[in-house]
Amino acid sequence: MVYEFRYLAPKSVGRLCAALTEHAGAAKLLAGGTDLLPNIRNGVFKPDYVIDLKLLPGAAKLQYSQVDGLIIGPAVTINDLLRQRSVRRLYPVLCDCAHQLASHQIRNRATVAGNVVNASPCSDMAPALLCLDAVAVIRSAAGQRQLPFSQFFTGVKKTALLPGEFLEKIIVPAASSNASGRYLKLKRIAGHDLGIVGVLCTLHQGRRRYAVSSAAPTPVLVDGFSAGDGPEDVERRVLAAVSPISDVRASQEYRRHMIAVYARQLLQEVR
Ligand SMILES: Cc1cc2nc3c(=O)[nH]c(=O)nc-3n(C[C@H](O)[C@H](O)[C@H](O)COP(=O)(O)OP(=O)(O)OC[C@H]3O[C@@H](n4cnc5c(N)ncnc54)[C@H](O)[C@@H]3O)c2cc1C
Repeated sequence: MVYEFRYLAPKSVGRLCAALTEHAGAAKLLAGGTDLLPNIRNGVFKPDYVIDLKLLPGAAKLQYSQVDGLIIGPAVTINDLLRQRSVRRLYPVLCDCAHQLASHQIRNRATVAGNVVNASPCSDMAPALLCLDAVAVIRSAAGQRQLPFSQFFTGVKKTALLPGEFLEKIIVPAASSNASGRYLKLKRIAGHDLGIVGVLCTLHQGRRRYAVSSAAPTPVLVDGFSAGDGPEDVERRVLAAVSPISDVRASQEYRRHMIAVYARQLLQEVR
């Protein structure tokens, strides 16, 4: 049976906030729909209202400046990110993660904002946003607040967004530009698949960081490495930060093993 809902497409932030307040608990926001629509079809979500945010002014804004950093609007797709030359040049780590998210067809619809609000432990964009100190700009009828992504993810498919709030934009600071790094993602099949584990290592101004996906209820940032850390130190610290489970994709033991393998490999490669 087809599930019926009312479709709204507000053209101003004010109208969107009013709709979110009026239909609190009964509405879901729509960006690319690659998570939302399967969830509606499978009966996981039963919203009375679906509110499309793609018509908001600035929703598709993807712009870099040395003052503001990289601004990513809520309708910016993964492929928009990959297509923009300045993003590829200044934020290669963001593109490495983006390139490994799903297939080209999905990347044409899937947004960066939707990926993080969906808050899956296996989100491929979260590791990059964590390592690059990105900030969530959150808006509601009550006003605007900013939250670093290190505080955004609160559990499996849970975020710090409160009822009536939405993710208005993502800011990746200019200070994080030119970070080098590499994302290794283990999948069951060649081509596109959700990750069994994903390990990102970045190096920026002498500071090494790791972020791990599919290894805990939320994507995990591991910081505070020193220049003299060897493979054992790195492996120990990364494994101490994660708590993978066994599921249909892999056992906990295999996940821990591969996280250690990738952490060591990336220590060699990201120099
Ligand atoms: C076949 C397939 C393969 C996939 N493979 C991967 C993969 O390899 N890696 C990966 O990380 N993901 C994968 N995904 C998941 C999905 O594509 C991503 O999470 C996608 O980025 C979600 O973005 P969207 O624009 O489609 O979000 P939507 O589906 O529109 O929204 C996702 C959720 O966030 C909410 N939302 C959206 N935007 C906002 C906002 N601005 N403020 C507040 N709430 C908002 C929606 O209400 C919804 O609950 C896959 C999905 C499919 C169908």
